[in-house]
Amino acid sequence: MPGFELFGEQERKEVQDVLNTGVLFRYGFDQLRNGHWKAKAFEAELAERIGTTYCHLCSSGTAALSIALAACGVGAGDEVIVPPFTFVATIEAVINAGAVPVFAEIDETLCLAPERLDAVITPRTKAVIAVHMCGAMARIVEIKNFCTEKGLILIEDVAQAIGATFQGKNLGTFGHMGCFSFDPVKTITCGEGGAIITDSRSLYTKADAYADHGHDHIGNDRGLEGHSILGTNFRISELNAAVGLAQLRKLDFILQKQRANKERMKEALDRFSEITFRKIPDEKGDSATFLSFFLPDESAARKLSENLGRAGIGGCFYWYDNNWHYVRRWEHLKKLKSLAKVPQQLLPNCPNYENIDLSQSDRIMGKTISIQIRISWNENELSQHIEKIIDVVRTR
Ligand SMILES: *Cc1c(COP(=O)(O)O)cnc(C)c1O
Repeated sequence: MPGFELFGEQERKEVQDVLNTGVLFRYGFDQLRNGHWKAKAFEAELAERIGTTYCHLCSSGTAALSIALAACGVGAGDEVIVPPFTFVATIEAVINAGAVPVFAEIDETLCLAPERLDAVITPRTKAVIAVHMCGAMARIVEIKNFCTEKGLILIEDVAQAIGATFQGKNLGTFGHMGCFSFDPVKTITCGEGGAIITDSRSLYTKADAYADHGHDHIGNDRGLEGHSILGTNFRISELNAAVGLAQLRKLDFILQKQRANKERMKEALDRFSEITFRKIPDEKGDSATFLSFFLPDESAARKLSENLGRAGIGGCFYWYDNNWHYVRRWEHLKKLKSLAKVPQQLLPNCPNYENIDLSQSDRIMGKTISIQIRISWNENELSQHIEKIIDVVRTR
């Protein structure tokens, strides 16, 4: 899965370009930078690759979500519908915007269930964040249709699914804005980094300014730039952008490898009648970072997960017990524990996160196991890994 498996000469070359000039800042220093604009180049190539008009790089995927929420005007007191299975960053971004995360159920796509959105909508609902988990897509067209019908903003969190498509169209291009992460364990990495994409010039302009203290980036004297809004600093450095540029150029190779390796793993598990697979609305568009499957119930899944662990097999995840990716173990969220008072504590309508009913999501996550698909396995390593997993499944 992670781009760091392929770290090499290309990354070093791009970084060396930056080191040779000493210009680590993405803006200005035109004469000194010897023609190197790594952040700008990354933005242009990413927009081209994903098939979108605008792209703005930033310091992380979490920052990308914060930028998207700000650009879309989501703020104090607004409600944002989110899935309970995601990386906690999605929820943190909503809370840090002053908005209220409202959980809706997922289905066997492991992403938001479109038909469960209506149950949690209120007059305060402003947006939906659809998270494309573990490499593959939510039922994004149905979610989009719901948002259009209700007049809601749709933001896609594509941190885990760069390069995945639904019916040929890249994830991240269905909503008003799409957010990517390039942290060290994502499909492509630049150390720390993220990006927002959009087809809207106005949303892009707002995002571009917000991520750099409101700078309008007009003209070529940074000191004279206007500031029409208050923003913050979510900038990426040229060093990080340089790494990302080299990684982006490997994306197609990465996807091809992951898809081939996943196919092999899936074939091997397909012969067990008690195993069924995660529903993927468009199998061809899967970025194939994980093979996710269901056991008949929670106890069977937990047992298999324990046995895989006991056999020393790495890269297998039982998210239901994981304290980063599923709401069940987010004690800090349940108690709204933060360093200072958060706006949600002042809101009479903020849900009590300690007793939200997510029984459908619990049932699905309870029986789910994911196996990470690596890029760098050679033929031998892949067959041995499959062999070991099969042995454990057979004897469970
Ligand atoms: C990784 C991740 C993020 C946050 O990205 P960072 O770059 O680590 O801040 C957000 N959402 C999801 C679904 C993620 O997996």
